[in-house]
Amino acid sequence: MARVIDGKVGAAQVRGQVRLGAEAFHSQFGRAPGLDVILVGDDAASAVYVRNKEKAAEEVGFRGKVHRLPANTSESEVLSLVAQLNETDEVDGILVQFPVPSHIRQDAVIAAISPAKDVDGLHPINMGRLWSGLDGLVSCTPAGCIWLLEQLGVKLAGMRAVVLGRSQLVGKPIAALLLQKDCTVTVAHSKTQDLEAVCREADILIAAVGRPELVRGSWIKPGAIVIDVGINRTPSGKLVGDVAYAEAFELASAITPVPGGVGPMTIAMLLNNTLIAAKRRKAAG
Ligand code: NAD
Repeated sequence: MARVIDGKVGAAQVRGQVRLGAEAFHSQFGRAPGLDVILVGDDAASAVYVRNKEKAAEEVGFRGKVHRLPANTSESEVLSLVAQLNETDEVDGILVQFPVPSHIRQDAVIAAISPAKDVDGLHPINMGRLWSGLDGLVSCTPAGCIWLLEQLGVKLAGMRAVVLGRSQLVGKPIAALLLQKDCTVTVAHSKTQDLEAVCREADILIAAVGRPELVRGSWIKPGAIVIDVGINRTPSGKLVGDVAYAEAFELASAITPVPGGVGPMTIAMLLNNTLIAAKRRKAAG
């Protein structure tokens, strides 16, 4: 039976470290690290995510501000707010909550954010730095997955890792991070043939697909570590991951639950990224 990887405990640990880092930053520079979030429109789920980020930032002692803009805000208005925040010294991190309304190009918004303040790690410069093995800002959910893996205390080098999903937000950055840890990485996706056989080779299986319980217990190599990024709501309203948890639990050596696994790590890593950005900006003068 698997060890359960508790993301709530991990997130509390990261937040505690960030809180101490924020205090030290404040006493050294006379101000708190600052995180500005832009929310366009009135998507209910996005509003909840943003409120959670705002609360989390307050709790670690950051200066936080949410810019709530109406759904009919033009792309150029969003871009000029981003430009203004890029120039504001007390803003260390800028996050635009996606999705934005369809008349606003997500790529244009991402490209407008200063890479030094891109705490979501989505700017092509940060993506490129990640794949080049250079310091940058790494997107939060992938950073959280790797943090959880490292906490297990197993030697990752040489392990076969399979990443299900190749999105810019999750799959690709996770693959880059696992390569940095010297894993042998396979990235599988919607066109992969015989997904089950590919998964069965994995010592580390990361599922980031968005299909409820796609990965069955029979797909899990005995002893594998399973990190389930998926968050899916079933017709009955239950939250489930991309992995059939009860089945995988019988075979895996360690597994993240949904909810309570990767999810809580995402906001914790956002806070961590903001502190990193604040310190780097000060170090760069
Ligand atoms: P996405 O839709 O952008 O990408 C999904 C990926 O899965 C694609 O690369 C696609 O090729 C692949 N895919 C789709 N169907 C497949 C199939 N049947 N077999 C194999 N591969 C398939 O999604 P995303 O943004 O990467 O998110 C993935 C999941 O992770 C979603 O459930 C999302 O809600 C969740 N998520 C969780 C967090 C968190 O904080 N825990 C953060 C981001 C995303």
